[in-house]
Amino acid sequence: MRQYPRALNRLINELSKLPGIGGKTAQRLAFHILSLSDREAEALADAIINAKRGLKYCNVCGNLTDQETCQICSDTSRDRTVICVVETPQDVAAMERIREYKGLYHVLHGAISPAEGIGPNDINLKSLITRLQGDSEVQEIIIATNPNIEGEATAMYIARLLKPAGIKVTRIAHGIPVGGDLEYADEVTLLKAVEGRREL
Ligand SMILES: [Zn+2]
Repeated sequence: MRQYPRALNRLINELSKLPGIGGKTAQRLAFHILSLSDREAEALADAIINAKRGLKYCNVCGNLTDQETCQICSDTSRDRTVICVVETPQDVAAMERIREYKGLYHVLHGAISPAEGIGPNDINLKSLITRLQGDSEVQEIIIATNPNIEGEATAMYIARLLKPAGIKVTRIAHGIPVGGDLEYADEVTLLKAVEGRREL
């Protein structure tokens, strides 16, 4: 990319580090950014920095929030007897889009993957156990990890961990295609998967 001035090369280089952005797309985005007004470009840069600095993980469920405790955990109208365990904050958003689920969440920030050396201690799982120990209201844990090897391994691990405590552990049905991503499931599929959940 020597044909471009250094500042432009730097922008293209940073953009190309983003997931799903190849060299060509990075160039196109860089030129688009250059075509913006100063104000628009500053708004973009500011949104990135603001999101990065202003967002943190909820001290209860691990979801992304700009407060200590997220809106869902703070909402007293939510059903506190059920916790849905998901891999990412994007999965929380997907579940919220179906508008049927009124319980709470727990975000693992990943899944157990022996192949990649990711064990139970490398995801946000310990805090779920601590959370359950201090909370007698919870009656059901719905495990909505992705339907792939890692998601299944995580579901089985959590089920084995919680069963002795007498908590009902269910797994969402396979309306979600195997190997698929919860985040990208359409609302009807996701709703069917939650409705058709089975006990582990
Ligand atoms: Zn929360």
